[in-house]
Amino acid sequence: MICLSALCSLPPRFPIKVALFEGCAFNFPQGSTRFCRVMSSLQCCKKEPRYCYGLGFEAVQCYHSGYPNFILFAMSYSVKFTLNHEQDTQKFAQVLSQQVHSGVIYLIGDLGAGKTTFTRYFIQNLGHQGSVKSPTYTLVEPYTIQGKEIFHFDLYRLDDPYELELMGIRDYLETPDALFLFEWPSKGGDEIPQADVIIDIQKSDDELTRFVTLTTTSEPLAQILQEQLNGA
Ligand code: ADP
Ligand code: MG
Repeated sequence: MICLSALCSLPPRFPIKVALFEGCAFNFPQGSTRFCRVMSSLQCCKKEPRYCYGLGFEAVQCYHSGYPNFILFAMSYSVKFTLNHEQDTQKFAQVLSQQVHSGVIYLIGDLGAGKTTFTRYFIQNLGHQGSVKSPTYTLVEPYTIQGKEIFHFDLYRLDDPYELELMGIRDYLETPDALFLFEWPSKGGDEIPQADVIIDIQKSDDELTRFVTLTTTSEPLAQILQEQLNGA
């Protein structure tokens, strides 16, 4: 990782592309690299990394494939914790549902990792009374909870991101103040928005334990989760 001071020593309008990414970028499974944003002007970068968020996008893989001017630096915050039982997942969902009420959440992990289980508890904690079905076949399940719209997508069966266009995803995305949860976001290509929160769930070899890495652009959120889930 090249540090921010290296950026600042370059002339303001140096034609360089800057990828914003969490320090351990290369540990992320493929797909979550959409999290990084690329911009062509250094001007903004000199202010504060977080201000750059939302300006442009290009995959971080470019760093490996012949763009010598790519620079990576930290702009996000990660919290790591372990879920030993499904009750721990329930608690995690409860804590997050108290903090995140709109925006985009990506859920990353193999089949059976617990993405839908987490979402079920999350949506129920937001106040939903009925069942929370997996949208594996329907692609999306919408909920309205106290006037707020929540859309739970599962893109596992998507063959082409363009199918999202055909099913009218833009209408969903234009819903004001809505909350979007995406399972298998890597299948959504550029049709889905960037994440505010990325939840990566990995199973242990014996499949009993889940290791979670939550990445967010919000430092306060990361701090709260750290306190409430790791007690530190
Ligand atoms: P995914 O949506 O990631 O494919 P699901 O949530 O559908 O996965 O399935 C997860 C399965 O693992 C469920 O049967 C759930 O009961 C089980 N499970 C065991 N431990 C946990 C845990 N700590 N968190 C979430 N699910 C767990
Ligand atoms: Mg699922």
